Amino acid sequence: MEFYSNYCQKKNKSQNYPSLEQRVKTVRELLEEAEYVVIGAGSGLSSAAGLDFGGERFEKYMGEFGSRYGYHDMYSGDFYNYQTREEFWAFEAKTILVNRYEVPGLKLYHKLFDLIKDKNHFVITTNVESQFAKSGFDSNRIFATQGDYSKLQCGGACHDTLYDNEKLVKEMVAKTRDCAIPTELIPKCPICHREMKVNLRSDGYFVEDKSWHEACSRYESFISSINKAPVVYLEFGVGYNTPGIIRYPFERFTYANPNAHLIRFNRDYPEGITENKDKTIGFTEDMNMVLAMLFEPTKGEQENEL
Ligand SMILES: [Zn+2]
Repeated sequence: MEFYSNYCQKKNKSQNYPSLEQRVKTVRELLEEAEYVVIGAGSGLSSAAGLDFGGERFEKYMGEFGSRYGYHDMYSGDFYNYQTREEFWAFEAKTILVNRYEVPGLKLYHKLFDLIKDKNHFVITTNVESQFAKSGFDSNRIFATQGDYSKLQCGGACHDTLYDNEKLVKEMVAKTRDCAIPTELIPKCPICHREMKVNLRSDGYFVEDKSWHEACSRYESFISSINKAPVVYLEFGVGYNTPGIIRYPFERFTYANPNAHLIRFNRDYPEGITENKDKTIGFTEDMNMVLAMLFEPTKGEQENEL
């Protein structure tokens, strides 16, 4: 079997690299042979699944905020310098509601679960919308490193308890007027009375509670248990925002194990490092399409079966 890490999206060079069908066939074979599958997911997976933070979804759910403050996606809304905390929380609550509470497990995540459910698998993700847990994955096999939309913590991290925010978020949204919540709904830490924040790794006060540490240990044990066994690292939409969490470790693990392969889905950076060039397969194509293809036998295979 031959692998090409330098699969190139430029059309005039594409004849030098395996076709989409060939790469899909190779991935299918690798998954069949693998004893372990490790999924690493970044925001690109949720975007491909339809959980887009800009575009039509933004206009549909956050249009009022966009017109008032002049931004066009939810990331920018998060960094906007609001004049009041009431406005900040109105934005925050709506973002959590539409991305965490009002969204079911999406088709692409379900499809991914169907693909690997019979394999010994584990998920590491920087996504915070709980899509893996909503789509069939066992929460004991998920390590969400960057936090959880559905939790609040002390803004100064004075203690490491996390608090469910569903009821509060829904009340905030219901009571939002002119892009602001009532002052009394601004959450305050029960211990030090500082303002609380959503449990996301956005500053130096991110709380890693007991369950975060347990998930981290489970992930590390899983990775150690692979040793030199056949393993496929499936990486989805991980860019260079935080490459030290998934992208670089996956490259390191692939390099260290002669029986490891890295399948990298990335619209912009599908290439592997030179040292892994024979063990990396890159896809710039739409993940929905490639996953659908993985479930369909190729023409040649169908003929063999007849
Ligand atoms: Zn506190």
